[in-house]
Amino acid sequence: MQSFWNDSETTSISNDLLALRVYTSQLLGRNPALVLHGGGNTSVKITEKDLFGRDVDVLYVKGSGWDLATIEKPGFSPVRMDTLLQMAELETLTDTDMVKYQRAAMLNPNAPNPSVETILHALIPYTFVDHTHADSVVTLTNSPGGADLIRQVYGDRIVIIPYVMPGFILAKTVYDIMKDKDWSQVDAMILLNHGVFTFADTAREAYEDMINIVTKAETYLEAQGLYTAPTKEQSGQIFSLEQLLPLADLRQAVSQQRGIPTLARLNHHIASVAYSEMADISSIASRGPLTPDHSIRTKRVPMVVENDDPAASAAAYAAEYTAYYQRHVRNETMLDPAPRWAVWPSRGTISLGTNVKECVIIENISNHTLNAIQTAEKMGGWRPLGEKDIFDVEYWELEQAKLKRGGSKPPFNGHVAVVSGAAHGIGRACATHLSTLGAAVLALDIDPAVSEIASTTIMPLVCDVTDTAALENALAQAIQTFGGIDIVVSNVGFFPASQSIESIESLMWQKALDVNLTSHQLLWQKCIPFLKRSLNPSINVIASKNVPAPGPNASAYSVTKAGLTQLARVAALELGQFGIRVNTLHPNGVFDTKLWTPELLEKRAASYGITVDQYKRNNILNVEVTSQDVADMVAQLAGPAFAKTTGAQIPLDGGNNRVI
Ligand SMILES: [Zn+2]
Repeated sequence: MQSFWNDSETTSISNDLLALRVYTSQLLGRNPALVLHGGGNTSVKITEKDLFGRDVDVLYVKGSGWDLATIEKPGFSPVRMDTLLQMAELETLTDTDMVKYQRAAMLNPNAPNPSVETILHALIPYTFVDHTHADSVVTLTNSPGGADLIRQVYGDRIVIIPYVMPGFILAKTVYDIMKDKDWSQVDAMILLNHGVFTFADTAREAYEDMINIVTKAETYLEAQGLYTAPTKEQSGQIFSLEQLLPLADLRQAVSQQRGIPTLARLNHHIASVAYSEMADISSIASRGPLTPDHSIRTKRVPMVVENDDPAASAAAYAAEYTAYYQRHVRNETMLDPAPRWAVWPSRGTISLGTNVKECVIIENISNHTLNAIQTAEKMGGWRPLGEKDIFDVEYWELEQAKLKRGGSKPPFNGHVAVVSGAAHGIGRACATHLSTLGAAVLALDIDPAVSEIASTTIMPLVCDVTDTAALENALAQAIQTFGGIDIVVSNVGFFPASQSIESIESLMWQKALDVNLTSHQLLWQKCIPFLKRSLNPSINVIASKNVPAPGPNASAYSVTKAGLTQLARVAALELGQFGIRVNTLHPNGVFDTKLWTPELLEKRAASYGITVDQYKRNNILNVEVTSQDVADMVAQLAGPAFAKTTGAQIPLDGGNNRVI
């Protein structure tokens, strides 16, 4: 492992201990083989003047909720050293009390809660203390004879700490072990099945000691021909829609168990496919995580899809999880029995989160886990921590407290939406609005401008939605990434130039049919098998005020939108038995779209003998209807307000006396 220390980056902060602490914390955080997503913690001891000018010894320690990769000065909590050292001498202390009294000893009440390892950091008599869950070191400790291997690789200047629960018990264990030892004879501490602590009086030394410790483990594994570096290489395979149906089945079963819609993100990196193909995968996958705090994100073990039957496998997982809970419960509240990741033999792994961010975190953790497992298997077998110890972390009182605090979630968390015609206007507003409300969104458009709305939750794909193969490919990419489809916003459409029936060109007529009508039928046809596997499925159709109130010289537009409306009525009849709701909006002309060029606006206004402004507000309420108004209404249609409505046609036109 390579050191990222760079002298030129530290010359300006060489006298600022907290700035140096931020710097090397970020260096540690940059390497996912050291820490992942909030894992690990660091500290620095500083003597400061208090309000009254007295010297106070302060431990600045990573606050909870901060990530080492991105931590800044406000991410460190200042805690009085004298209080922490007295706490270490207590015989017992619950973690809840520990957090409470640590907060009481903070010099800044607005700082975040100090890490649960704060007392341990205080005990180590060096200025800088670094703690990681380095993959390679933990892999060694999770192999047969792990403690002996550590001794063999590192010699006597390492203290080995047997596994105990992180928090006060760990601090107490280290306190007892080190009471009669000389810290100057110790280079680092290795915590079996957990991680590494290094320490020194300079930021650089503590950091580089960590790099050296990890390098020794990697060198050992490499020398045995065992080390597999994590790979980001994709297998490159894109599955067909039919091959992805089992993924949607799995997502449906897991969502039901979790009680909320859940995304299912297929991870087919070469290493995860290889892992999924291991002969005894069911046994290997059932042994446990890389380091115990991963279990809070991933649960103790993944689900394995057996006999190509995701629903039965999910049920078996839930039963086994419930039994695990019952074996260890004292007074804890049971978490949902749904898996957080799954192994799909010969396809790869699947991360199961309620939003894209959670899926990515789980995917990163599982990638590091399956690498470590494949390495340890070659060393004689993966021997992670036993299930009782994992249960104690998963059901830790501090985690249970978080559960009770709850908090509200965006309404479309775990939902997947597909929006056609998403580059501009109504489609763009729908895609971004649904994403704001928690949905993962596939945004389709033939116009490359659709890529402007790319984000972690919006996947824009350039696609001619009248082309069956292109549409299937786009949907397959989204389903591989998100696991299914819940909300269809059938929006694509264009307004052909004003022409009378007598003069309209047949090509234009045909194009209107293809885009405004047939492409919708095609989209629904491809989405219906996935909507049938959704917990909250809906098709939301953007038709037009022109359907109930047509105008002259717009036959191609009015007729295709009327056809679309009729298609939606039939779809409502056909799909009700599957719980799929199909509702149609008839918006007024929405003028903040690409459809409405200034020339077209003037032409249409002139054809009614009114000004452009009058034309925009030409309705009973005298209001202009915007793209955002339509997006708000689509979110309502897809949400609980319309849970018992299907086949409806809803005007969004400011009131029109030809419609009323
Ligand atoms: Zn730790």
